[in-house]
Amino acid sequence: MHRYQLFIDGAFTDAEGGEWIESVDPYHGEAWAEIARATRGDVDRAVTSAVKAMERGPWSKMTASARGKVLRKIGDLVVANADRIARIEARDNGKLLTEVRGQLNGVAECWYYFSGLADKIEGSSIPIEKADTLAFTVREPIGVVAALTAWNSPIWFATIKCAPALAAGCSVVVKPSEFASASTLELAALVKEAGMPDGVFNVVTGFGHDVGAALVEHPGVTKITFTGSDATGAKIYETAARHMKRVSLELGGKSPNIVFEDANLELAAAGVVSGIFGASGQMCTAGSRLLVHKSIKEAFTAKLIDLASHIKLGDPMDPATNVGPIATAPQFKKVLEYLDVARADGARCILGGHAATGQGLTGGQFVEPTIFSDVTNNMRIAQEEVFGPILSIITFDSEDEAIEIGNDIAYGLVAGVWTQNIGRAMRMTKALKVGTVWVNTYRAYSYMMPFGGMKKSGLGREGGIEAINEYLETKSVFMSTSDEGPVNPFIMR
Ligand code: NAD
Repeated sequence: MHRYQLFIDGAFTDAEGGEWIESVDPYHGEAWAEIARATRGDVDRAVTSAVKAMERGPWSKMTASARGKVLRKIGDLVVANADRIARIEARDNGKLLTEVRGQLNGVAECWYYFSGLADKIEGSSIPIEKADTLAFTVREPIGVVAALTAWNSPIWFATIKCAPALAAGCSVVVKPSEFASASTLELAALVKEAGMPDGVFNVVTGFGHDVGAALVEHPGVTKITFTGSDATGAKIYETAARHMKRVSLELGGKSPNIVFEDANLELAAAGVVSGIFGASGQMCTAGSRLLVHKSIKEAFTAKLIDLASHIKLGDPMDPATNVGPIATAPQFKKVLEYLDVARADGARCILGGHAATGQGLTGGQFVEPTIFSDVTNNMRIAQEEVFGPILSIITFDSEDEAIEIGNDIAYGLVAGVWTQNIGRAMRMTKALKVGTVWVNTYRAYSYMMPFGGMKKSGLGREGGIEAINEYLETKSVFMSTSDEGPVNPFIMR
């Protein structure tokens, strides 16, 4: 069985307590690797080395272009190792190999993108209203960044957080999910090989309630960037508030996929099916609420059932598989519980509705692609994030009603809109209270586009040029160019 050590101060090392946590391959239902269980002492060592790297250099003393070159090298190494790492992550969290492999291309491009941004972080010179004063701003790295991530796309999350943080000149301590840490530690090996100075990039692994909490509380950490559930996000936000730490939170969703009567129904059906059953619904962006115009409900539902009933569940490594297993045992239990919750609330199950068994599914945790009809937006199945392959169908009569139902939710991550009417598409885009709107498409991502949520879906944005702002502080400098003192030194200048 492969053992993954912590990565602290440029070296792979066992945890102080000598304990290990098994990482389970969710397709075979067997432990395949062990990850070190860090202690508070290990967290302290990691943060201390990150503080030292920022305060004493060489990272903080390198030019921005030199920093960018290290990031570029990481991108090159990701390209060279993409096949191997994709297999590791697919094994660790059960995501389709073809999907993870595609994501690894984005991971490499993301390192390249932020490597190019490292030497384009500029302050400004401001022509203020005071004579004999030069006024300018300097953009400085915010400090040590703690990056805590979820299990569904770990190397992607580590990259979309660390690439801009490192480009900004920060040092980082990453805490991946205890359910899928392997690919983040593989990334650590590449970061080392790329020539990153010791202490700039660290990885501590273990459980959230001890290792994650210790990292968030550590006084050496200035900024926390988190991807995970809204419950954990709220805890982190509270802790951060007590110490006035900066936070970015990428949390859950309960996203509406809205299909109008004038949509291209073939495309819309494919978008709705992949938006909820792709990755077994284990996406923060899952389009778990289908809002469909009443006049096309029957015809559209028939299309969905036809598509969804042909989904091939199976081995994530097999290119013929459409949908893999549920990644963790607690998540599997939660999804099955929500099948009962929906039925108890009066939703009508029209497809699936059970754990999936059968040939090729024996060791894994599989759930049938499930569709509930007759859902009203106040039901728990319509309001709570399941993070599984369960679609709820809700109908609407008018554009206004679609907006009202779409926004009648605590979350605000993404929304899909399917229509051929450009005016309607624009009106919907404006009215929906979400961070991303997909028009006639779904699950489209780019590291060049800001991504993040409104309302309970989080704070801040990842991706795009503005992501760098999450890792910078602005310092204002007023410099007198006069040799004379003030006329009255007791009055504000
Ligand atoms: P989670 O909140 O259980 O865990 C996320 C991370 O936080 C893990 O590393 C975990 O160990 C750590 N953690 C747990 N408790 C902690 C604590 N008290 N203090 C500090 N750290 C702690 O989430 P999960 O189950 O890993 O991921 C699923 C959730 O993530 C879903 O809600 C999903 O919507 C969300 N998610 C959001 C996005 C996004 O970009 N908005 C992307 C993917 C997943």
